[in-house]
Amino acid sequence: MAARRVGMFGGAFDPPHRAHRALAETALEQLELDVLHILPTGQAWHKTRALSPAKDRVAMCQLTFGDLPRVVLDEREIHREGPSYTADTLSELQREYPGAELFLVLGADQLLAFKTWVRWQEVLQLATLAVANRATDIGAHASLDQTTETDLSAVDIPFQSLRMPLKNISATDVRARVERSTLDIGALDVLVPEAVARYISQHHLYQPPQ
Ligand code: ATP
Repeated sequence: MAARRVGMFGGAFDPPHRAHRALAETALEQLELDVLHILPTGQAWHKTRALSPAKDRVAMCQLTFGDLPRVVLDEREIHREGPSYTADTLSELQREYPGAELFLVLGADQLLAFKTWVRWQEVLQLATLAVANRATDIGAHASLDQTTETDLSAVDIPFQSLRMPLKNISATDVRARVERSTLDIGALDVLVPEAVARYISQHHLYQPPQ
């Protein structure tokens, strides 16, 4: 049967963490997706920091999402020349799944920044935005279960809300904690799947410069 409901979930995934995994599971279930494409970004036009090598981010995505049903780990943005735009990826998916309804899965921080995206109007025409809320106080000192939601009341573009318990995790925080060595490998498991914690340790990712 042809896929009728197709999701796209993009990110730097540097590294993928437990909130990413929860968001993918939530989207699959609440949007009743036939397929969810997970897209690690290539050269993210909106991030200034150099990303970890694509092969490491892809491997960690495999460890994070690989066992979920109906998930495709999609490397097209990594292989695309030059900067990668969501509008291009959605157009390609529309061609690949003719007649399907497309959903773009994202967190609240990205919704607030949405109008800075290149060709955002085109994105809105191609897909329904499906948004999970995100804790406002993202940082090393915030509690993991912190409950202050991002205020989305002023957002004037249409979106669908995903219901997901707030998880106060960010990749920035994971990297910072590993770099400062404030977490041993066991403690890292709280933030990222165990297999990703092992991968970070074995491949010496996010270590302070020697
Ligand atoms: P960084 O801290 O490096 O900016 P990040 O944790 O925001 O990274 P990304 O890979 O940039 O992770 O995020 C991919 C997508 O996942 C984005 O749409 C982002 O909003 C969403 N996301 C990330 N963390 C959360 C979270 N804790 N709750 C809800 N959505 C999240």
